[in-house]
Amino acid sequence: MAKGLWVYVEQSNMKIRKASLEIMSKAREIADQAGDEVVAVLLGQGVEALANEVIPYGANKVIVVDDAQLEKYTTGTYTSVISKLIREYEPQAFLLGHSALGRDLAPRLAQRLRVCMADDCIAMEYDPTTYLTFKRPIYTGRAFAQVKLTSRPIIATIRPNTFNVSEPDNNCQAEIIKRNAQIEAADLRAIVKDIVLATSKRPDLVEANVIVSGGRGVKSAQGFGVLEELADAVGGAVGASRAAVDAGWIDIKYQIGQTGNAVSPTLYIACGISGAIQHVAGMNSSKIIVAINKDPEANIFKYADYGIVGDLFEVVPLLTEEFKKL
Ligand code: FAD
Repeated sequence: MAKGLWVYVEQSNMKIRKASLEIMSKAREIADQAGDEVVAVLLGQGVEALANEVIPYGANKVIVVDDAQLEKYTTGTYTSVISKLIREYEPQAFLLGHSALGRDLAPRLAQRLRVCMADDCIAMEYDPTTYLTFKRPIYTGRAFAQVKLTSRPIIATIRPNTFNVSEPDNNCQAEIIKRNAQIEAADLRAIVKDIVLATSKRPDLVEANVIVSGGRGVKSAQGFGVLEELADAVGGAVGASRAAVDAGWIDIKYQIGQTGNAVSPTLYIACGISGAIQHVAGMNSSKIIVAINKDPEANIFKYADYGIVGDLFEVVPLLTEEFKKL
C-alpha cells in the first residue's frame, strides 16, 4: 500500500527554498492527521549537508541523492532519478513548489509514471478518502476547482507563499537514506554547461512577501525606478504587467499573470495596472492587494483591499517616504 507524503526540497546555491519549507510544514500537519510520514527528497551535488536543515521542519526521513551528474538541474536526469525512487517506495504523494523547476519537473514525472497531477495549487487539505484535496485556479483565475486525484502517487505543485513555515524543532530526528543516482546515457539528452544567476539584492519574485508591481501606467523603464525605491523601503520585489514587459521597460522574468509568474505575497501593490483578467490570474491569491490607479473605474479596484485613486508618480514616493520612517 502507498505510504508517505514526499516533498521535493528545492535548493539554489545550497540554500533551501522557502517554498519547500512551506510545503514541508503543511505536509507534517497532514501526515499527523493521516498517521503517515513525511519524506524529504534532496537531489544535487553536495546536498547531503542540507539534510539536517530540513529535519527540524518535520521530516521523518530524508532521501538524499548526491551525485556530480545532478549538480545542475536537467529534466531528463531528475525525472529519471525521482521516478525510479517513486516506483520503488510507492509514496502516496509527491509535492513540489510551483517554481520554474517544479513547473518543469512535475508534468514530466506525471507523464513518466502515467499518473494525474494538479498544478499551481493554492490550498491543500487532508481528505480521508482520497488522501489530499487541492484548490487551484481555472479559466485564468475566474473560478477555482477543488481537485482530488485518485492515481498514485498524487503529484502536485503548490504556489509559493500558500502556507506558513512552521517553527523549526531541533529535537526532531529523522532517518537519512542515501541513494545512488544510477543515471543512464538515455537520461542525458541535455547537458547544462553553466547557469548564470542574475544578481539582485531584492527577494525572489515568487517567494517575496511584498511585491510592488508596475504596468503601462509606469510609462517607461525609468518610471520603474520609483517602484524600485518603494520595493527597497519595504524589502520587497518588483513585478510587472505584460504591457510593461512588452514595451521593453522590464525583463520578462518579472511578468506576473497567466503567461508569467503566479505569485501569492502578503502584500501586492499594483501601480498603473488596469486589472485585466490575465494579470489578475497571477496575483489574486495575494493576501492584501493595494491598487494605485488614476482611473477610479479601473478593474483592479474590484480585487483591491485598499485602493488609491491618483497618479502613481505622486502616490508611490509618498508611500516610500512613510515606509522609510518605520
Ligand atoms: P493597461 O491595461 O493599459 O492599464 C494601464 C493602467 O494604468 C490604466 O488603468 C491607467 O488608468 C493606469 N495609469 C496610467 N497612468 C497612470 C498614472 N500616472 N498613475 C496611476 N495609474 C495610471 N497581462 C499580464 O499582465 N500578465 C500576463 O501574464 C498576461 N498574459 C496574457 C495572455 C494572453 C493570452 C493575453 C491575450 C493577454 C495577456 N496579458 C497579460 C495582457 C492583458 O490582457 C493586458 O493587456 C495587460 O495586463 C494590461 O497591462 P496594464 O494593466 O499594465 O496596461
